[in-house]
Amino acid sequence: MIPFTRPGLLAKGIANLGEAMASGKLSGDGPFCRRAEKLLEEALGAKRALVTTSCTHALEMSALLLDLQPGDEVIVPAFTFVSTVNAFVLRGARPIFADVRADTLNLDETHLEALVTPRTKAIVPVHYAGVACEMDEIGAIAKRCGAAVVEDNAHGLFGTYRGRPLGSIGALATQSFHDTKNFTCGEGGALLVNDPAFTERAEILREKGTNRSRFFRGQVDKYTWVDVGSSYVLSDLLGALLLGQLQTREEIQGNRGRIWKRYAAELAGWATERGYRLPIVPAHCEQTFHMFYLLMPAAARTAFIDHLKARGVQAVFHYQALNTSPMGLTHGGKAGACPVTERVSDELVRLPLYNDLTDDDQSKVIEAVRSFTA
Ligand SMILES: *Cc1c(COP(=O)(O)O)cnc(C)c1O
Repeated sequence: MIPFTRPGLLAKGIANLGEAMASGKLSGDGPFCRRAEKLLEEALGAKRALVTTSCTHALEMSALLLDLQPGDEVIVPAFTFVSTVNAFVLRGARPIFADVRADTLNLDETHLEALVTPRTKAIVPVHYAGVACEMDEIGAIAKRCGAAVVEDNAHGLFGTYRGRPLGSIGALATQSFHDTKNFTCGEGGALLVNDPAFTERAEILREKGTNRSRFFRGQVDKYTWVDVGSSYVLSDLLGALLLGQLQTREEIQGNRGRIWKRYAAELAGWATERGYRLPIVPAHCEQTFHMFYLLMPAAARTAFIDHLKARGVQAVFHYQALNTSPMGLTHGGKAGACPVTERVSDELVRLPLYNDLTDDDQSKVIEAVRSFTA
């Protein structure tokens, strides 16, 4: 079976891991984590990168940093992973589900004006599949209503919007290093702090509410409990794996780009004949080749997934509409409120795409796809 995703190109990380184990420094905020953070800061121009135990936790840190109070509103796309929303709901905020654009499947910025209220505290764009949201428009509306922009950049590391790195545009941004993402250490994430007003408190929240980071930099002579917080630091063993993946980024992105473009080139004709749609990437967005998907009518999709499975190829759908999920319905979501999201979540299917997918395996996938004639 050719899986739809699998971690790959881990050799450098495994070498680093050996070094980290031998050093005896296994806990969080260690030298490998710091090197991974430096690499992210330099590549993205972020003021501070803090690696975390997951993207979910980086989103939770964002919600804490924004001091959200019960009843505050946070605008989120209905087409995303649950953590984009959960992190804010955990703080008592009210999620306001926005529909997505039919082309990029990103938060539809043209709906924002109608959704903002005096209680809007944050807007959370998700760069779906690593293709940028319309950040100029989103930023302008956020500025006008005094809301913070938190980029959920789980798919978008090393992508750009009008030449600007994704993850460097919002006041805060979050990354995921879960093993389904382009770069992985199994489970892991990062909080990117672009507004320096948040830096010191972000370090404290991540270190159980203590000023331990300042202590280690010699800025205070003993460390103590100063704020709420939790344990969001990443073990240096995972930091070592992560650094290796980031050091291999050109090869990883090069491979993924080649695989993505081959799918696009070899499936375009087949898809057009059947009225199926391939991903759309606007010219001002450099994408990250996080996923290759097809949109096809719901009935065809079920048959298509079965057809591929019978030929040893795993294809999967992605994201149930959150506004119609059991949790979403108890948090202001309504069926029919986000028509594009609800349609796309019935129509989208992802093909295998991972760092070391071989040409031969990709040929098998393409052959299996093209033999679907329903
Ligand atoms: C994967 C993902 C997350 C969660 O990442 P974890 O590191 O698993 O917590 C959040 N948002 C989006 C859009 C994701 O794809």
